[in-house]
Amino acid sequence: MATYPEYPPDQSDEEQKYLLTSLKDWSIAHGLAVRPTTTYVSAEIDPSGALATTAPVTLFPSLFPRVCFEQAKSVAQDYNELYSAIASDEEWLKQTVEELVDIDDFIAQLWKVHLAVKQQGYVQPLNLGLFRSDYMVHTDPANAQSRPCVKQVEFNTIASSFGGLSTQVSALHKYLFTVGAYPEAPLSVISDAALPESTSVPGLAMGMAKAHEAYGPSKDGLATCVLFLVQDPERNVFDQRHVEYVLNKNYGVKTFRLPFGKVLNDTKLDADRKLVYSPPHAPSKQFEVTLVYFRAGYSPAEYQNQRDWDGRLQIERSAAIKCPSILTQLAGTKKVQQVLATPHSPHLKRFLPDEARAAELLKTFAPIYPMDKSEAGEEARKLAQDPETAVRYVLKPQREGGGNNVYRKAIPRFLKDTPETHWPAHILMEMIEPPAQSNVIFRNGELQKGGVICELGIYGACLWRDEDGKGKREILENFEAGYLLRTKGCGSEEGGVAAGFGSVDSACLIDVD
Ligand code: ADP
Ligand code: MG
Repeated sequence: MATYPEYPPDQSDEEQKYLLTSLKDWSIAHGLAVRPTTTYVSAEIDPSGALATTAPVTLFPSLFPRVCFEQAKSVAQDYNELYSAIASDEEWLKQTVEELVDIDDFIAQLWKVHLAVKQQGYVQPLNLGLFRSDYMVHTDPANAQSRPCVKQVEFNTIASSFGGLSTQVSALHKYLFTVGAYPEAPLSVISDAALPESTSVPGLAMGMAKAHEAYGPSKDGLATCVLFLVQDPERNVFDQRHVEYVLNKNYGVKTFRLPFGKVLNDTKLDADRKLVYSPPHAPSKQFEVTLVYFRAGYSPAEYQNQRDWDGRLQIERSAAIKCPSILTQLAGTKKVQQVLATPHSPHLKRFLPDEARAAELLKTFAPIYPMDKSEAGEEARKLAQDPETAVRYVLKPQREGGGNNVYRKAIPRFLKDTPETHWPAHILMEMIEPPAQSNVIFRNGELQKGGVICELGIYGACLWRDEDGKGKREILENFEAGYLLRTKGCGSEEGGVAAGFGSVDSACLIDVD
């Protein structure tokens, strides 16, 4: 493939100043914002937590091949179908999870919650997935003529974030273009048609509204509500608020934010296991919860004591629809992704029997290997221990939220320091190497200019009814729900915006050969 055109255009100091002022004002006016880190604004300066700042954002929309963008969007519904099928197939999931329970305490605890609910019987067959499939552009280094395609980094089934801010950042870049804040260099590739709108806010809100509607009114005559289960403190609160406000405004749904550690304080189960919520500011009121939307509960550090696990169990036992249920959360483990993507894996067709559609998904898989004692695992162990080959790989444990992976040359040392019995808790994945490009990131009041790497996320919403716990299900809603582009400096291996590595961005689509 040809390299990307020279981009972004050069700017004079005055041009950059104008662009930055326009960006900062627009961002705050439209809630493209986060709470500041305490290193940026100390607790002494802002003791009551009243301040917010522009979210880390790129000045320019980054280049992204149009064919790759379209490819990622075209498989969104198939990915929804695939992961709803996996989450509904308890027996298959059990085999995969059982390989982890002895070596990964967090996964073991999650599985225990599932078993406890199963014993009593699940009372809610409806499930909502608000997924995000993350990709990078890949070009075959061995074939200069090959067209770029997307390869999947990971598939998120819990707390898929930045849908709220993504819609704002695509609108920001479009605004900056329309007011002429971008210099008109001769090579400028920015145009109205090149800037796709991100529909993640309306898309995610619609997914939640459909679940809320499918639950129906309370049979006991209570008012109903959707609960956003959140971390406390949460810096990325505005990202969540954007979705909440649309849910409220466009669908009339009442919403509350419940800190993860407060589940047992503020909710209870009635005799039919309906989840009843009493807000701490109005304890005499009772709401029947139709949907619990998890923006927390994906990381072991959030489960500080038994009470937190009991809270999780209470939600899982309840009749509220969960986004996601514990089985859907487990379907999103990297182990499941590896089992599907290990070369010659037979598993994909179990969940997606349509060969043509399965073939399109397969094209998005990068090679991933187990670290166990299977044939593929032994091969992976060799690749990971040899410093010469390890540089082409990333080693990942079963964790979400950024900052957990081991990259390239650090892998052999990490394995030396890790008991061999623990190796199978990881997967080994080939690094995707996207084409080089540059941009300017504005983060914590500072500009960082240089080479960047982009990661495209495509949101998907899927509402389904489990019929037998063995994979049979009825899909009620299945749609693509907008996109996210995150961009990091190419010196950083990690990409998480909230984890402190990346920025939110939007796509400037280009036609490549
Ligand atoms: P997490 O669940 O922590 O988000 P990811 O699998 O998304 O874990 O990995 C974190 C980051 O590491 C990604 O955002 C991406 O920047 C980088 N990364 C992960 N896998 C790959 C890969 N195969 N090739 C290139 N970069 C990767
Ligand atoms: Mg990720």
